[in-house]
Amino acid sequence: MEALKQRIRKDGIVKEGNVLKVDSFLNHQLDIQLFEQMGEEFKRRFEGEEINKILTIEASGIAIACIVARYFNVPVVFAKKSKTKNIAGDVYTSRVESFTHGKVYDIMVSKDFLNPEDKVLIIDDFLANGKALIGLSQIVEDAGATLVGAGIAIEKGFQRGGDLLREIGVRVESLAIVEEMDVEKGIVFRETNQ
Ligand code: 5GP
Repeated sequence: MEALKQRIRKDGIVKEGNVLKVDSFLNHQLDIQLFEQMGEEFKRRFEGEEINKILTIEASGIAIACIVARYFNVPVVFAKKSKTKNIAGDVYTSRVESFTHGKVYDIMVSKDFLNPEDKVLIIDDFLANGKALIGLSQIVEDAGATLVGAGIAIEKGFQRGGDLLREIGVRVESLAIVEEMDVEKGIVFRETNQ
């Protein structure tokens, strides 16, 4: 998606440890007009698919998921991150290692909000090693729901997550795929037909 790539080129900051900082439009200050364009693009890419729920993970996924949900006219469920191992109640849980913080979280979704009839689109801001997406897919599977696919704003194509998930048959649609990035060269995007 050209508008997103242009914005990353303009305002993205390459940090140590393969981290791309996009706080001025995606992760801290939020450019809602850009989010609207992203929502429209996901709607176009998943046209014809039956989707009745969007699933994301707190915190950064929530805002994007909410705007995307307007285009699909469906509710958003977000997985909560908990640092405790004692998760009470009727919840689906999965363990996720955070790329940016290096911590391990148990994520959870109440059983009230995911069920076997659900056709789920996962939305997240970044795809790096795929831990967040795998954790969310696990929860969809545990609920007996159907995973239609995953819509990602920025995939870092030089990390393993995207390939790994596509290999196991998950449809991953990323709006911008970063092929290479470093402080000197800047940011190089993968050419796609999308
Ligand atoms: P993964 O689980 O695929 O390794 O990492 C995805 C999660 O880590 C995303 O939910 C995102 O919040 C965070 N993340 C991964 N890489 C980056 C990055 O380069 N920049 C930012 N801002 N967040 C990232």
